[in-house]
Amino acid sequence: MDKKEENTEEQVVNPWEVSSSGGKIDYDKLIDKFGCQRFDQSLVDRVQRLTGRPPHVFLRRGVFFAHRDFNEILDAYERGEKFYLYTGRGPSSEALHLGHLIPFMFTKYLQDAFKVPLVIQLTDDEKCMWKNLSVEESQRLARENAKDIIACGFDITKTFIFSDFDYVGGAFYKNMVRVAKCVTYNKVVGIFGFTGEDHIGKVSFPPVQAVPSFPSSFPHLFSGKDNLRCLIPCAIDQDPYFRMTRDVAPRIGYHKPALIESSFFPALQGENGKMSASDPNSAIYVTDSGKVIKNKINKYAFSGGRESVELHRKLGANVEEYGAGRMLTGEVKQRLTQVLTELVERHQTARSAVTDEMVDAFMSVRPLPNMFN
Ligand code: ATP
Ligand code: MG
Repeated sequence: MDKKEENTEEQVVNPWEVSSSGGKIDYDKLIDKFGCQRFDQSLVDRVQRLTGRPPHVFLRRGVFFAHRDFNEILDAYERGEKFYLYTGRGPSSEALHLGHLIPFMFTKYLQDAFKVPLVIQLTDDEKCMWKNLSVEESQRLARENAKDIIACGFDITKTFIFSDFDYVGGAFYKNMVRVAKCVTYNKVVGIFGFTGEDHIGKVSFPPVQAVPSFPSSFPHLFSGKDNLRCLIPCAIDQDPYFRMTRDVAPRIGYHKPALIESSFFPALQGENGKMSASDPNSAIYVTDSGKVIKNKINKYAFSGGRESVELHRKLGANVEEYGAGRMLTGEVKQRLTQVLTELVERHQTARSAVTDEMVDAFMSVRPLPNMFN
């Protein structure tokens, strides 16, 4: 690569890093680079028509801005064929942050609106390998995170939550091996950027995240339903895993999973990064108190305000009243603090009602007889 080419590579988005040296993340560029499709208004309208309910605010506001084959999921649904949802979380922190709530809140809406089953993968094995956590600690965090996930309101009669350490084996493992045989070392290096210094656990992980896309990985749920389609709601940083999965799927006799992909809840420091568990100052956690939220917003949040009150009033910044210069940075931060505190307090109340027995129930390997009703 020559110097000039290097300089244009200013935006990095992959499952482990999201950063942009040239200001805001350019989501149009990402769509082009990854080769996904834009989620346009006609799709929003179609979701409304098919579900008979108003589209989720994340659809109306373009938070979920990209997809792969979502129209095919809707075509099938219109013909009376159901599908299942698959999403997940890598338990790297004690609690979820607001960024994680985006895919989960949206998945809850999809489950209710389409009345479909959902599998949630906790990649405790992944975080054990990437974050250098012990096996036991990763498993403990997975259970803690499951409580936050359950607090999002998922329907226990339609939802199976599993930890990789507990569940991988049997039919799931057979699919992992089928996938692994189709992906060369060169290919995985091309997609994920592994180097010769990375341990082999990393190189062998991608099939683990791939195979929940295939119904036969869950014989207790989808036995005899090998044709069932899968829809994956996630943020766009997970796209590399599913590019690989979609490439392999038809070669081993499965449908390609469809995706609906969100932009990032930005880091407090600005829109050139994402809120991430790996940088505690970038994130507001669902366990933060109102006071902590207020302090974090006042101390770290980048507002886009102008350098002086005069300039701000004259030029305005980026959001409606604030953009028109009628609101000041302090007022915007106050409003943001209020909105997020309410959301977090609601979540904390829901989480305090989640018992260990409920976690066991969501995570038990069991049939879900009414999952399509
Ligand atoms: P880590 O820093 O340990 O990688 P993370 O914050 O990136 O943690 P993951 O567990 O890797 O979180 O991601 C879980 C899910 O949440 C994925 O679907 C991912 O795309 C999504 N996600 C993570 N961060 C954000 C964010 N800031 N905004 C929206 N979605 C996010
Ligand atoms: Mg991550």
